[in-house]
Amino acid sequence: MNDGKCLCGSVTWEISGKPESTYHCHCTMCRKAHGAAFGTYYLLASKDFRWTSSRDTVVEYASSPELTRAFCRNCGSVVPNGDNEDKYVYVPAGCHDEGANADAHIFVGSKAPWYDITDDLPRHEAYPPGEDLPAYEDKSLPDAPEGALRGSCLCGAVVFHLLEPFKVVHNCHCSRCRHARAAAHATNGFTSMEGVRFIKGEEHVSSYKLPTARFFTHVFCDTCGSGLPRIDSERKIAVTPLGALDDDPGAKAVDNIFVAYKARWYDITDDLPAYDELPPG
Ligand SMILES: [Zn+2]
Ligand SMILES: [Zn+2]
Ligand SMILES: [Zn+2]
Repeated sequence: MNDGKCLCGSVTWEISGKPESTYHCHCTMCRKAHGAAFGTYYLLASKDFRWTSSRDTVVEYASSPELTRAFCRNCGSVVPNGDNEDKYVYVPAGCHDEGANADAHIFVGSKAPWYDITDDLPRHEAYPPGEDLPAYEDKSLPDAPEGALRGSCLCGAVVFHLLEPFKVVHNCHCSRCRHARAAAHATNGFTSMEGVRFIKGEEHVSSYKLPTARFFTHVFCDTCGSGLPRIDSERKIAVTPLGALDDDPGAKAVDNIFVAYKARWYDITDDLPAYDELPPG
């Protein structure tokens, strides 16, 4: 048995048996839904999946005619979609500490420019061989003012501009980030508070503060669950999930942090400095 849960613990499930496949998906929709470099999914026969909580806080969002995504309304974590009437359930591995390692990368044709794949897993441009589903064009956004970068959620309700270059970008492997993003790790860019401006849909921006944490707050769209920038007025910083950006920030993560808490199903294969907790200084 292998238990999964959202960040706030309202939504829990259990998987038994081995996934049919496990893949890192780099498609634009996964990157936005998770606010991360990629989403990692267990494709599981529904007989091997069981909800162990109510689904009262689960919100569904149809990101394409073929695929409905699901997230927790309370905390914003991506949660499994599909149910026992379907043949398969798609389970976000980021909500699990242990489990199967990925077999492949998919949709590397849409990969983020700020993320390099450094492992030896097979890479597929779009769907894995044998899958024949339609692919969708990315939506287009209006131009940003000179020097600003554009960011938005998956459903398009929320649009923001990044007005400053990132001071630093970290890949964070802490358990909170993994559950909040439901991904292998977060990739977060830091600016001043004034570095992020919401242009549209601020009324759709929800946040969840982890009760046990001093600062940790996950910010997400209430309609599609996508990760969004967090403006932290106490520390006077803004923290932007790079997965929410539509434009290339021209910056990449400089290190891996909190690697003492990384997912056991994920191996770090880049050669960036890795720190057990915070970087020195
Ligand atoms: Zn939750
Ligand atoms: Zn995807
Ligand atoms: Zn949205």
